[in-house]
Amino acid sequence: MKEYNIAVLSGDGIGPEVTAEAIKVLNKVGEKYDVKFNCKEYIAGGIAIDKTGNPLPDETLNACVNADSVLLGAVGGPKWDKAGGPRPEQALLGLRKGMEVYTNIRPAHVFKELQAASPLKDEILKRGVDLVIIRELTGGIYFGKSGLAEDGQSAFDTEEYSVPEIRRVIERGFDFAKKRRKKLTLVNKANIMETSRLWRKLFFEMAEDHPDIEVNELYVDNASMQLVMNPSQFDVIVTSNMFGDILSDEASMITGSIGMLPSASLGDSSNGLYEPIHGTAPDIAGLDIANPMATILSVAMMLRYSFDMADAADDIERAVGETLAEGYRTADIQNDDCKLVGTKKMGDIIAAKI
Ligand code: NAD
Repeated sequence: MKEYNIAVLSGDGIGPEVTAEAIKVLNKVGEKYDVKFNCKEYIAGGIAIDKTGNPLPDETLNACVNADSVLLGAVGGPKWDKAGGPRPEQALLGLRKGMEVYTNIRPAHVFKELQAASPLKDEILKRGVDLVIIRELTGGIYFGKSGLAEDGQSAFDTEEYSVPEIRRVIERGFDFAKKRRKKLTLVNKANIMETSRLWRKLFFEMAEDHPDIEVNELYVDNASMQLVMNPSQFDVIVTSNMFGDILSDEASMITGSIGMLPSASLGDSSNGLYEPIHGTAPDIAGLDIANPMATILSVAMMLRYSFDMADAADDIERAVGETLAEGYRTADIQNDDCKLVGTKKMGDIIAAKI
């Protein structure tokens, strides 16, 4: 029997509630495919600050680095927002760095049953929205030299990218496009920025090795408009850290349901970091009303990208689709004639469909 060790960082707020349901579904997958998933919980974020003073204790980081995969709920909350103290979000940066995961993969998919939740008009949505944003995660302006002048009258941030840093992310873009609808869009600001011009040069050079993939480029300002005007034109988007950060949040809003969207952060090894895109939702924590689907769909990504279990990933995505088609909804996506269920019940329904 195959075995995989999964480090689980449930984190804070609704994190423990949604990860519990994802593990429930994962265990059903294990039964069906005769695979043993050893899920072991470690502390990270606010809970780790409370217990150890450190948002990412060494034991947690070591376990994540050595695991076959990592499932994260979410970290943070008002309790730890005090100026000057350690911040729960430091756990995320430490994990990305420690696990050397340099690309973030965020699908944005509008389920047809949830079209009404999208802020976009039906006539735009009816063409279908199913795109993936691939974002560079460990370089660029967020990690460049920055500073504030002593007199506080000026400040600067710098963006720097090396050829290998850019190539490995673009290569992942081609990999994804190949397995999807074979279209890859580079988003840049090459009319202004030197780093963007380097991304563009490498992108079109690499495209010559992938003649089956249709490629194009868009300036980031245009891309942000196109995402709301005509999102169905996109299949895979590849871009730098800051542009990807902004565009992936915009794309998630198109779907209208933050509780539905998974993400994966990947490096060179098969070990990846999987998490819902939402935060800890302190306003609804502990009420058994959070939507667990984003975390359940993150487990589907884990099966697909870390364990090469595409059939099992398809099973989970199908189970979520069927659950929605049957009218089951958590409060965040409810409509007039739905069957309203809580977090645990939603997990039970999806698990039963595996
Ligand atoms: P949030 O995503 O936690 O919540 C935004 C809104 O969406 C809230 O109204 C919340 O109730 C709702 N929501 C979010 N997830 C939901 C779900 N699964 N089901 C139903 N409703 C859901 O964002 P925020 O309020 O800006 O942040 C709250 C805390 O989470 C902050 O401390 C922030 O730093 C942290 N955060 C952590 C991560 C992470 O760990 N990756 C990401 C974003 C925010």
